[in-house]
Amino acid sequence: MTVKNLLVTGGAGFIGANFVHYWLAQNPQDKVIVLDALTYAGNKANLDSVANNPNMTFVHGDICDTALIENLIDTHQLNTIVHFAAESHVDRSITGPDAFIETNILGTYSLLKAAKKKWIDEPKAAGNEPLEHRFHHVSTDEVYGTLSATDPAFTEETAYAPNSPYSASKAASDHLVRAYHHTYGLEVTTSNCSNNYGPFHFPEKLIPLIVTNILNDKPLPVYGDGQQIRDWLYVEDHARGIELVLKKGRIGENYNIGGNNEWANIDIVKLVCKVMGEKFATNPELAKRFPNAKSAIANNVEQLITYVTDRAGHDRRYAIDATKTNNELGYVPAESFETGFAKTLNWYLDNEAWWSELLTKKIA
Ligand code: NAD
Repeated sequence: MTVKNLLVTGGAGFIGANFVHYWLAQNPQDKVIVLDALTYAGNKANLDSVANNPNMTFVHGDICDTALIENLIDTHQLNTIVHFAAESHVDRSITGPDAFIETNILGTYSLLKAAKKKWIDEPKAAGNEPLEHRFHHVSTDEVYGTLSATDPAFTEETAYAPNSPYSASKAASDHLVRAYHHTYGLEVTTSNCSNNYGPFHFPEKLIPLIVTNILNDKPLPVYGDGQQIRDWLYVEDHARGIELVLKKGRIGENYNIGGNNEWANIDIVKLVCKVMGEKFATNPELAKRFPNAKSAIANNVEQLITYVTDRAGHDRRYAIDATKTNNELGYVPAESFETGFAKTLNWYLDNEAWWSELLTKKIA
């Protein structure tokens, strides 16, 4: 389809902001409206570099506000919604599931209702064809549940079996999106992606948590035995995958997006330790800029690793089989893990003001 006027929900969050940067650079003819409630995870500063772009408009608001969404569709003649907004942290879903039910399920429902009304119902009532439109829903591999070390990876045919309040709320939203297509003809696509990493990743998530704790010489918490396996994808490659689904994907379909890059959590933590240790050993400037990073300065970062009680219901392994997305859409991740990982660590070293402000003000 031809995207023209695009609503990006959750565009001030980690993946949403990276997607907005990517979209404006790759599709400079399109207009992007960002809608974000600026929860603890949302940060307007993530959009600073595009704040003056005349094709980007930021709207502070809640996806549960259906009237606001309807108004945005009319005002900006939106023909596409890319829906990132969510509560996204599994640990928070265990201690406080309410926000996950409200935003991830009711918020998605609110967006679907507004889209159906504006793109299908109102044109029909006026005797017209539905407007050309697309509702793209951004989801996760966690909806498929957990795998053993030898199970085959998740395909789009794998039955949903979510295990955490987070993944259950995402699964519910995926089902609502599917139902709006089958029942009402809303033109939807859904992508289910593995763990992202990259710039603007909130410092409660594994890689930025480990990096920022090293820089503050704090313990590096590892759940259980650390052998939980995740697939990791550079965030810009996720944005590219979503672009391909929007432009070439078939309506009503789900597409898996993954990096073919499985790592045990403990190995990711040890890799961050190793690379940070090397950086401090080869660049004396870092010790001056980060005097708190005593273990890194002493080249002994791994001593900070601390095993903690495992997360309740912790899924053992996620793995993505992206054959359908590769074959149908020609999707292949562009960034190698080595270069993506190096870029990410450098970004955190170069953007201390960004993460230190979040650490002091925003992590509740
Ligand atoms: P994030 O927590 O960094 O950002 C979420 C954004 O949504 C924030 O800017 C927040 O302010 C906004 N938001 C929350 N509630 C809102 C509401 N009610 N109305 C409007 N805005 C609201 O999350 P993320 O990691 O960027 O994830 C984005 C999406 O991608 C989520 O839907 C998530 O399920 C999905 N996803 C994430 C990953 C990952 O590795 N992070 C992997 C696969 C899928």
